[in-house]
Amino acid sequence: MSRGFHAFFRQYYNLRALLARLDPDLGMLSPVRDYPLVHARGARDRFTGLPSSPPLNAFALAARSPSFPVGELAGVNVAAALQLLDVDVPGVYTRLDHRDAPAFLDAIRFPAAARHLAFEVFSRSFFADPARLSAAELAVMFHLYFLGSSEGLLFDVANAPFPQAIWRPWSAYLARHGVSERLATPVSRLAAGERRRFAVHARGRSAEEFDAVVLATDVPGLRDLVAGSAWPGTGDWRRRALALPSAPPFLVSRLWLDRPVRPDRPAFLGTAGFPTLDNVSVLERFEDEAARWARGRGGSVVELHAYALPETCDEHVERKRLVAQLHRVFPETAHATVVDQRHETRADCALFPPGGYERRLTPATPDPWLVVAGDHVRVDLPVALMERAATSGLLAANALLGRWGLPGHPLWSVPRRGRWAPLRALARWARSEGQPGQRPDARRA
Ligand SMILES: Cc1cc2nc3c(=O)[nH]c(=O)nc-3n(C[C@H](O)[C@H](O)[C@H](O)COP(=O)(O)OP(=O)(O)OC[C@H]3O[C@@H](n4cnc5c(N)ncnc54)[C@H](O)[C@@H]3O)c2cc1C
Repeated sequence: MSRGFHAFFRQYYNLRALLARLDPDLGMLSPVRDYPLVHARGARDRFTGLPSSPPLNAFALAARSPSFPVGELAGVNVAAALQLLDVDVPGVYTRLDHRDAPAFLDAIRFPAAARHLAFEVFSRSFFADPARLSAAELAVMFHLYFLGSSEGLLFDVANAPFPQAIWRPWSAYLARHGVSERLATPVSRLAAGERRRFAVHARGRSAEEFDAVVLATDVPGLRDLVAGSAWPGTGDWRRRALALPSAPPFLVSRLWLDRPVRPDRPAFLGTAGFPTLDNVSVLERFEDEAARWARGRGGSVVELHAYALPETCDEHVERKRLVAQLHRVFPETAHATVVDQRHETRADCALFPPGGYERRLTPATPDPWLVVAGDHVRVDLPVALMERAATSGLLAANALLGRWGLPGHPLWSVPRRGRWAPLRALARWARSEGQPGQRPDARRA
């Protein structure tokens, strides 16, 4: 099951270019055409059929959403809200990284009833309590997924389990290019090599030596690796790597039910206002293996995600709470028997707290032959999550290729700043008038 449902947004240009090496038509992905969001109080929003150009998409969403009461819209601080249309990377971090996301939405006077739209949709995968998310990161997500791109909130999903759709084809592709893999071989230590620059130690194996290393682990893996290695990097770099913050635990539960969910249930449903449930997916709507099982058994395969669980949570308690919430969202499942289940509780996602931007690692390290990649890495482009992982991987590769005198790979992103010049100018004017909570624009100074 891996970590289950993943949305491959249309503006993930670098990730899609990588996947196109496996199949130029991206046949491993299928579109999810509708993407409703339900609030525990009953409000329901949809993201299909919106105009593609900002700010019209934002106006249309606000106009048709039951979450945007017209009365409250009148109270929005327009000058502060304009900052969302003037996101430039990395300048937005200078202005907003010191604040947390709820404080920023407070300054905008973002309607309380619509907060879940901001948190559940634009930044739904930051895996932490909103107060632990940098306002700059929230603004970048608004820009990336909505206000700065014309692809909007549409996404595709893998139409087969990840091993079949992605990992095995990648292994075959890499093998054709002379790569040898050591899977399930955690690296415990890096040291200076004797014949080559790096000696890479993995548990239970003799060290192997390499000319260059890309550290593409998750955050806890990176912290452990750096802690276990007296080298590499300078003191400051090591301190930053060891202090990288992790998000709290998440739980993914996949249930095989003996009867189907209602035919009108969508492939993916975002949820808000529930104790822990963040989304429900119905796998037979898009994944071939689940579709075969559901057809053969007359059942359904549903997956539940819960993010930002308490650090000390008990997985068994959380599993039960998740299933109880499923019964609220899809009442027909209350009578279903769970014929099989898989659960993953982990705490290895990156966290982007207020004030953390300056301390993030970049692809370059103090050693020119050692580079870092992953979704926690600072790349100074408007990208996030899987796309940030892919983009940082390409940047890391390009750094090494350049040293070997080889050409690198092109990189793409949505525009690095807001798409509408008059609104950007208006936002800058509002900033110069000293909107509360905004730091002055450093570049202008
Ligand atoms: C439940 C869930 C849902 C998500 N949904 C979405 C989504 O819809 N859209 C989206 O864009 N993103 C989503 N994400 C985020 C996405 O999964 C990550 O952004 C992405 O996987 C990050 O890739 P990465 O390569 O940086 O790290 P990872 O995918 O975490 O890979 C790091 C790898 O390093 C390995 N490793 C760690 N330590 C060592 C070591 N010492 N030696 C060797 N290997 C080691 C780990 O085993 C792991 O395989 C979701 C994440 C979760 C958990």
